[in-house]
Formats: sequence, C-alpha cells, structure tokens
Amino acid sequence: MKKTCNFCGRSEREVKLLITGINGYICEECAQQAYNIVKESGLTQEQQERNGGAKFGKQAKVPKPREIKEYLDQYIIGQDEAKRFLSVAVYNHYKRLQQPEDKDGVEIEKSNIIMVGSTGTGKTLLARTIAKLLDVPFTIVDATVFTEAGYVGEDVESILSRLLQVADYDVQAAQRGIVFIDEIDKIARKSDNPSITRDVSGEGVQQGLLKLLEGTIVNVPPRGGRKHPDQEYTHVDTRNILFICGGAFDGIERKIAQRMNTHTVGYNSVQNVRKIDKNDLMKYVQPQDLKSFGLIPEIIGRLPVLTYLNPLDREALRRILLEPKNSIVKQYEKLFKMDGIELTFEQSALDLIVDKAVEFKLGARGLRSIVESIMMDAMFEVPSQRKKTFVVTSEYAQQQLDKSHMSALELAS
Ligand code: ADP
Repeated sequence: MKKTCNFCGRSEREVKLLITGINGYICEECAQQAYNIVKESGLTQEQQERNGGAKFGKQAKVPKPREIKEYLDQYIIGQDEAKRFLSVAVYNHYKRLQQPEDKDGVEIEKSNIIMVGSTGTGKTLLARTIAKLLDVPFTIVDATVFTEAGYVGEDVESILSRLLQVADYDVQAAQRGIVFIDEIDKIARKSDNPSITRDVSGEGVQQGLLKLLEGTIVNVPPRGGRKHPDQEYTHVDTRNILFICGGAFDGIERKIAQRMNTHTVGYNSVQNVRKIDKNDLMKYVQPQDLKSFGLIPEIIGRLPVLTYLNPLDREALRRILLEPKNSIVKQYEKLFKMDGIELTFEQSALDLIVDKAVEFKLGARGLRSIVESIMMDAMFEVPSQRKKTFVVTSEYAQQQLDKSHMSALELAS
C-alpha cells in the first residue's frame, strides 16, 4: 500500500520524512506546522491568564467567602471561626492572583494560614475540603519528616515534588496549588533562645521552610527523585502557592495564660480578667504565643492568618457521626444498602460511640475506628445472610468493642 501523509496527502516520495503513527503517517512539514499551532495556543492561554482570566482547575470564578463557608459547613461541624478566617484568606489569595498590574503600587500580599487546634478537630479536613472546592492541586505533608538540607531525611523542597505529582506535572497548575503542612509545631525550636548547637530538626527546617513560604523559585528534581547533578530540574515558583499550616501546639495554653497574666496588671485589666474563659484559652491565641512555643518570628510573619479550632465536645462528636454530607453513619448505611440491607443505629449506640471517642481523646479521628470495630463482624456476616435490616443496639456495640482491640486501647489509656 502506498504510504501518504494523513494531513497533506503527499506521498512518501514527495516528502523528506514520513513519521509512522499507530494508524497513519505525518510528514516533517505537517509535524512542524502542528508544533507551531500548539506553541501559539500555549501563548494565548498564558496571555489570557495574565489578563485576569485565571483558572482554578475547572472553576473559572473564585467563590465568595460566604459561599466557601457554606460549602465547608456541609462537611465540617462547628469550627465557625476557623471557617470564616479560612474562607476570607483563600478568597483573598485567589483574588490576589487575579490582581491587574496596576500602577498604583498596591500589591496584595499572600495570606498563608496557620491553624492551631488539638488533633482530630478538623484542620486537615478543612484544608482538603477547600482544595476540593477550588479544584486546585493539593498535598499534605508532615513537617516531622523534614531535616535541614544535607541531613538524613527529606529536604523541604520535596513538598514541591509531591505537589507537582498531584498536578500531573503541570507546573502552572502546581504553582497555584495548596500545600497543607501538618504538625508544624513539631519543628519548633526547643528553647526560646536561638540555639548555640545545631538544631537539625527544628530551627534549620524552619529556615528552609521560610524560603518556600516567602516565594522563591525552587529547582525540583523530576519525578520526585533524589537530587543528582545530571538531572534536569523543574523550576517551580512558590509565590502563588497557598500554604496552610496546622499543629496541635500541645501546652500552648500555658503560654497564653502566662501572657495574659503578665498583661493583666493594672486597674483597667481587672475587668478583662473576669471575662477570660479559662477553660478555652486557645481562642485567645496570638502570634507571640507561637513565638514562645518556638516558631521563629520570620515564619510567624509569613503566616499572617492565625486561627484556632475548638476541641470537639460530646455534642459536636455526635453531630460529626450523623450530619456531614459524607458522615461516618451515612457511609455505613450506604455500604449496607448496596447489599439491600437497611442499617440503623439506636440512639444509645450512638451515645456509646461518642463516650468512647471522648475517652480515647483522639477527637473525631477516634470515631471511625470505633465504628469500624463495632461493624466488623456484621460486615463479614450479614451480606451472606438473608437479612433485610440490621439494628446496632448499645448492647451489641459494647459487646463488639469488648471483643476487639479497642478494649486493649481502653486499658492502655
Ligand atoms: P486534624 O485536626 O488532626 O488535622 P483531621 O482533619 O485529620 O484532624 O480529622 C480527622 C477526621 O475526623 C476527619 O477525617 C473527619 O472525618 C473527622 N473530623 C474531625 N473534625 C471534624 C469536624 N469538625 N467535622 C466533621 N468531621 C470532623
């Protein structure tokens, strides 16, 4: 059969080079032309973005703070203060990306965020839910794995390898992504005074992180590999990446109390002291408390939005079981429904689950493992039986928990 270019129709003899594809051929001239078309279209896209038509994944418009909060309300119970702070910060961040290059000299600065709150109160969930809404690349990293460059452990730059990975190596998309840095409190320096000896895992890491937060161009080794002199690097600009940090900051209440005591000297302050809610000092958290805890001032300065999460009380835990769009109970109901079984939890069983979660002090994180332990046997047996309904009573729940490793946990706690 005669080979011809499928684009211009010229035969093999009429062209210099004919490239073979799966189902056809292309000549060198058509290939060149196709390359030019691709290049040109790339340019226009860039221009469009510069003219304010920035895209956030598939979403062309940034939702308003109120809309962001309403979306968060569907998935996260309580934490109103944090939701409001986050909605505004995220809105401003993406507005900043769209700011026209005015000559007025006003440049909106980046609003990286830090959230303080005990484990399992929803910090990661908040960040993840926002990223889902905006449809931007999102990655979670744990600050504890980082060490100062040159030491055993990961360099802070590896954060960007992961972001690139989730963005399918689309650098433009990664540069507008969100990074959640968990356990930021674990890289606090050990004492408030700058150390004389090297603090490999604390201050050095904070210094490394600082550059990323400020905005810098980082050479990222391709496909997340270790650095190697012969490798070609991908250049990632972190200026427009939104960093959200989270940490439990165990014991920060003491620092807050100390600060508030020292500030409450004098006649006027006597009245203020009375208003302080001693059981919930976290809501008074201020940047200087983070400094007392061991974050360097430069890092704190680069995380201008500081907010807190409330510890989850019994009522909140109960609502978390039932209310979020993909609540734990709804998920199990769905699993059973797929086998044609109607699953119900008695109120007393729900109370028991909440009691256990409070006991384990794992916040909402404990809820899932408790329900999992209770439902394990049922999930194994029920699909093979001819049941149409399954009711979880408190007796059944207790019996299952006694059998499981959960009771061992209880002994240990
Ligand atoms: P952390 O504060 O330690 O980052 P996470 O956000 O990872 O906690 O929460 C752990 C799990 O607990 C989440 O996956 C979610 O199912 C549940 N959870 C925690 N807090 C909330 C909340 N306020 N509303 C709904 N679910 C929550």
